[in-house]
Amino acid sequence: MSKRVLITGAAGFLGSHLCDRFINEGYEVIGMDNFITGDEKNIVHLRSNPNFSFVKHDVTEFVDIPGELDYILHFASPASPIDYLKIPIQTLKVGSLGTHNLLGLAKAKSARILIASTSEVYGDPLVHPQTESYYGNVNTIGPRGVYDEAKRFQESITMAYHRFHGLETRIVRIFNTYGPRMRLNDGRVIPAFMGQVLRGEDLTVFGDGSQTRSFCYVDDQVEGIYRLLLSDYSDPVNIGNPHEISIKDFAEEIIALSSDNQKIVYRDLPVDDPMQRQPDISLAKKLLNWEPKVGRKAGMAKTFDYFSGLSEEELYKSEHKDFSNHIKK
Ligand code: NAD
Ligand code: UDP
Repeated sequence: MSKRVLITGAAGFLGSHLCDRFINEGYEVIGMDNFITGDEKNIVHLRSNPNFSFVKHDVTEFVDIPGELDYILHFASPASPIDYLKIPIQTLKVGSLGTHNLLGLAKAKSARILIASTSEVYGDPLVHPQTESYYGNVNTIGPRGVYDEAKRFQESITMAYHRFHGLETRIVRIFNTYGPRMRLNDGRVIPAFMGQVLRGEDLTVFGDGSQTRSFCYVDDQVEGIYRLLLSDYSDPVNIGNPHEISIKDFAEEIIALSSDNQKIVYRDLPVDDPMQRQPDISLAKKLLNWEPKVGRKAGMAKTFDYFSGLSEEELYKSEHKDFSNHIKK
């Protein structure tokens, strides 16, 4: 009998790639999503697969899955700063109430649960590169606090279930990850710059562009998550690509992908935007024998191909997603 895995956030960017990976490994996958930031088209290719089923559900409400479960991967949560600034309360709820529901489900089913944490738990870091032992520098009441603190709470309640109930838990701290199926208009820097290049617009760099990020291709991220789930390590593990670049240099790299004469235009730096970010991945290397294999050039080329294949309508639908249908009155 194949193992059964529940993946929340299945219609999102990372969740849909995880569904593909677990299906390819021979698991029975149950995807769950409420489509608040995701899109059904990300999993449409799986709908006729007999090993895949889908439940439309908001995980902040009680989660009921009949039958046995071996693993739960909790990936439901807005992940783009613009998304979580627009739906701050949903963001807090999915990280707290949603995680509580999924931990309860894992306990009831004696399943192992992996939760998607983030480099944002380090806030605007004062330690560089960031090691798992760094406690972080987060503004609890700033606009990004809704995401950062929900994720920090998520880690705390997960460790409490591990210590108090003996639940098998895994925590991945994901650093900026990119690739096909990101939403073109989700506001994150890679889809934003790619959309601008494809529409022939200037690239919007926030601040002076000296802030840094380190971008990990999705296939590498999925491999790290897969290995972590199957490991026996319950403390948090950083998974990301340590090759760091400033946002200004990155914009220039992306402009080089286009034949137009685009330039950089500067916009205000968002409040609490971290000034530097680079994962220390020594632990993942040692524990999981994992390190990223896809360099930025190859990963960006694959991602550019994906965005280049979008229809004109999708390309010009640049306004941000309308969340009004999802917000309870
Ligand atoms: P995404 O927005 O593409 O996917 C998130 C999915 O969760 C969406 O399909 C959305 O509809 C769903 N969702 C949100 N709230 C829900 C709810 N209450 N009930 C059910 N479904 C809900 O984002 P992503 O980049 O795929 O991120 C996935 C996870 O990975 C998130 O937990 C995020 O915090 C984490 N993460 C991602 C990155 C990254 O670089 N992509 C970095 C750090 C952490
Ligand atoms: N950014 C930018 N222009 C954009 C979108 C983002 O300069 O059009 C910057 C943003 O201020 C941040 C970095 O790019 O410094 C990465 O932003 P993103 O939203 O992708 O993720 P973050 O790492 O901040 O969560």
